[in-house]
Amino acid sequence: MLLEVFSSGPFSTNTILVGCSSTKKAAVFDAPADSSQKILKRIKHHSLHVEKILLTHSHWDHIVDVAALKEALHVPVLIHEADKENLEQPGADGLPLFFSIEGVKPDGYVQDGQVFTIGKLKIRVIHTPGHTPGSVCYYLEDEKILISGDTLFRGTIGRLNFPTSRPELMWHSLKKLAILPADTKVIPGHGETTTIGAESWIAEAQKRFGY
Ligand SMILES: [Zn+2]
Ligand SMILES: [Zn+2]
Repeated sequence: MLLEVFSSGPFSTNTILVGCSSTKKAAVFDAPADSSQKILKRIKHHSLHVEKILLTHSHWDHIVDVAALKEALHVPVLIHEADKENLEQPGADGLPLFFSIEGVKPDGYVQDGQVFTIGKLKIRVIHTPGHTPGSVCYYLEDEKILISGDTLFRGTIGRLNFPTSRPELMWHSLKKLAILPADTKVIPGHGETTTIGAESWIAEAQKRFGY
């Protein structure tokens, strides 16, 4: 498997490029500000054929370059339906925007339990509402990799005090992640990677965050 992670934009948001080494088919996860040119270069470098742009959630720092990337790649953009509004109309979620962002109509919706294949890679969607109602994680079970968006970071979780956050749903979402194998590598939406084992406290996260 081919895996590249790089951060861009004012909040150093991670973009993840995942490719199947035997078929060269690939997917891009999240497209923050100033990421599209970098992504396109890496795709070209590895001669990848991107099939999908998959979004972890609709916060503006993850979607700024989705329109540009979609235009360049001509591939479908998928998101959980509960987060579609802010993708279509950035700012609809009540967060202030520091510059104008082009909205994108999603081409389809990801659902909990759905499995995509990208070449020989299998990617399972885990719906993890809390940070936003339509937050999802993407799980590559065979490779033991979890793309966690802003649900889980190294040592902490995504903020729950945004207008569309649902703290009461976050604890259940984290329990869904806590049961994954301990050696699963977690690639979050911001910052360094971690493992499910290193974040085993997430099974009891509600106590830790005092909600
Ligand atoms: Zn977020
Ligand atoms: Zn973020």
